[in-house]
Amino acid sequence: MHAFPMFIKTTGRRVVVVGGGEQAAQKTRLMLKTDARIVLAAPVLDEELCALVRQGRAEHYTGPIDAELFTGAAMAFVATGCVAVDASVHAIATAARVSVNVVDQPDLCDITTPALVDRDPVVIAIGTEGTAPVLARQIKTKLEEDLPQSLGGLSALAGRLRDAVAARVPRAKRRAFWRWVFADAPGKLWSQGSEEAASTLIKSAISQGGAPNSDQNGSISLVGAGPGARDLLTLRAVQRLQEADVIFYDRLVGEDALELARRDAERIYVGKVPGAHAWPQDAINARILAEARKGLRVVRLKSGDPSIFGRAGEELAAARAEGIEVDIVPGVTAASAAAASLGESLTERGRASRLVLATATGQDGGFSDAGTATVAPGTTTAFYMATRQAAQIERELLAKGCPASAPVSIVANASRTDEVQLRSTVSELGQTVASAGLRGSAIILVTWPEDVVAALAMPAQAAS
Ligand code: SAH
Repeated sequence: MHAFPMFIKTTGRRVVVVGGGEQAAQKTRLMLKTDARIVLAAPVLDEELCALVRQGRAEHYTGPIDAELFTGAAMAFVATGCVAVDASVHAIATAARVSVNVVDQPDLCDITTPALVDRDPVVIAIGTEGTAPVLARQIKTKLEEDLPQSLGGLSALAGRLRDAVAARVPRAKRRAFWRWVFADAPGKLWSQGSEEAASTLIKSAISQGGAPNSDQNGSISLVGAGPGARDLLTLRAVQRLQEADVIFYDRLVGEDALELARRDAERIYVGKVPGAHAWPQDAINARILAEARKGLRVVRLKSGDPSIFGRAGEELAAARAEGIEVDIVPGVTAASAAAASLGESLTERGRASRLVLATATGQDGGFSDAGTATVAPGTTTAFYMATRQAAQIERELLAKGCPASAPVSIVANASRTDEVQLRSTVSELGQTVASAGLRGSAIILVTWPEDVVAALAMPAQAAS
């Protein structure tokens, strides 16, 4: 970002607009949305601006344009219609330490005015750093359609009731309470115009110490974070992260995914710390259940797809045993991400008609033959947790009759900025991995093509 969005307080402050024509009027119209004292500095004002002065909504200033005019102002807009005058007014205002916007002169702007979706006190500002005003308008139009006009009124009511809620609704239940206000019955009633019914409902919930049914258990979502790239999370995953009260994550989940979470959600790392043991699964389960029992929305964020080598089964069982609502949000698994990065298909007609996802590491931490045992012509095998077992995979594959020349791809940190791709063959798999010094997590894809066997088999058939 080259500019950071902020909200500038206008209550009890002046905003100075230098100029009296249409451009000055445009900025003035924007400022009329606020409670700032608007000072129009120009020898002559157009009719619209004159009317504002008559109505007492703005003040007409005809004195000298000097530092005093700007001192203490919240901001200043300059639109005199003359480039040279604009520049000197800009210099005076800047010397008085006021943030200035000179209309149509980006180089002379400390501040720019965003496209606004105004549901006061809910205000959405859309900016494109001047690159695409048309896009900003399109986004504005979409949001205008999506957000009911009544939103501001409900939000203002929430503001007035905030102290009462702080006094009567226990802290642990407050988020659930506000979620109920905006997303549940009160929000619906309000948007249908039944404002009185909505506010009665809200007030009675406050007096009862929380939203109706908020004593019920929270929920647990096992959410797939994908292989690492932020745009490989599903929309549903982002939604769960936005609603979460608590997020449990581990080593393989990228920073990018966590950035999509609600800012004040609690984040709990349950992965392995270098030099220490990982959290035992039982301890993770107990912690997750404890948070859900408080009535919170818990997200268990897992790399890739939670149901592929993610120990999701144990967490599902633990939640169900306690009657806690639990769901799975699927994610892009490492094999898919690796194939996409390589620009290759995992299956292919006539070449690979079977796809096996297998771990190469057993429960004891040693080699598992899950993937090598099923290898056969026409199969692509994606070996997870496999780099330390590469040499053994090579030996087992060759022993199973897999051609030495069968293609192997190794992708480390697929979809991340530090992704590494290696291409090899089965007979060089161990050597390739050993000499690459891979860091992070890697997946090994091996394809034993169908046609290779067909080619080998044919001469034998012809001879018989
Ligand atoms: N649930 C995950 C897999 C977790 S098991 C998924 O569906 O992808 C951990 C293994 O996944 C790692 O040892 C590695 O083999 C693989 N893996 C996870 N993320 C990866 C990535 N970005 N690139 C390559 N392999 C990855």
